[in-house]
Amino acid sequence: MRIVTRVAEMRTACDEARRAGRTVGLVPTMGFLHAGHRSLMRAAREECDFVVVTLFVNPSQFAPGEDLGAYPRDPEGDAAVSRAEGVDLLFTPMVEEMYPEPGRTTVHVDGLTARLCGASRPTHFDGVTTVVAKLFSIAGPCRAYFGRKDAQQLAVVTRMATDLNLAVTVIGCPLVREADGVALSTRNAYLGAEEREAATALARALRRVAAEIVEGERDAAVVRGIVIDTIASQPLLTLDYAEVVDGVSLEPVTRLSGTVLVAIAVKVGRTRLIDNATFTFEGADKGVDEDDGVIADLGSTCSRADAGSGDS
Ligand code: AMP
Repeated sequence: MRIVTRVAEMRTACDEARRAGRTVGLVPTMGFLHAGHRSLMRAAREECDFVVVTLFVNPSQFAPGEDLGAYPRDPEGDAAVSRAEGVDLLFTPMVEEMYPEPGRTTVHVDGLTARLCGASRPTHFDGVTTVVAKLFSIAGPCRAYFGRKDAQQLAVVTRMATDLNLAVTVIGCPLVREADGVALSTRNAYLGAEEREAATALARALRRVAAEIVEGERDAAVVRGIVIDTIASQPLLTLDYAEVVDGVSLEPVTRLSGTVLVAIAVKVGRTRLIDNATFTFEGADKGVDEDDGVIADLGSTCSRADAGSGDS
């Protein structure tokens, strides 16, 4: 595995790979790599000839007062993980390399960024889309792998690539969880033992939602209420949002049909945690129909049986 820190080196390596007839798979990350990141690398490794991982803690997606300074870093561990996953190229630029001078250009995706995390972090997604556009530009034509852990980010980046005709195919990968259901996140490293225990309420809320959906619940307000009640039962958690939205437009829905995203954000101490599940309803226009197929996407370690949806 080659490690490069310069934009020009990264660009040349990707260009050379393509010239040799190899497809490029890009995995953008902020480092402190865990099994969620590894799953993206594996997907890229399976589908692409030349796998590139980027490690860059992007300052512009953190607002003042957020955890930029405290964000965990482990460059040597990250290199070892990447090497073990068969990554070809690791791009680890300094901030000055990515932003030699304050940028005057911002990529903004309208609408999709207004709700959910965008409401509580109003500058966040502009930081994400701007740096991801830069990484797409540097990498060139490729397949880029993003986790459904950050479902809104995936929707926003996908739309950006479409709107700007970028030569990048954005691939969404399943959310990876710990054995107790907690979604893997770099920010879990901030949690004390009691907070970590409290964090299980997010996945529990989603499992309860899945169980009710399997029983036929199609009212978004009821689903939202289940999430709110489950989070409220855990005193260490403060709800930021619980939303039931269309999986593509991210607009709130009243009835569950088509593809629906149930998304949660909480604060535990100073740490902000997010989680979500996507439910797909076949026969979307039929409303409540016991025969509808329901797919509870609760990640790789929460089986469908866990979610109470052994029928799909
Ligand atoms: P981050 O380093 O947190 O910016 O994440 C880099 C990429 O890894 C993003 O596409 C995330 O969605 C993805 N990712 C982070 N945690 C998980 C997880 N638990 N499961 C799947 N993907 C994840």
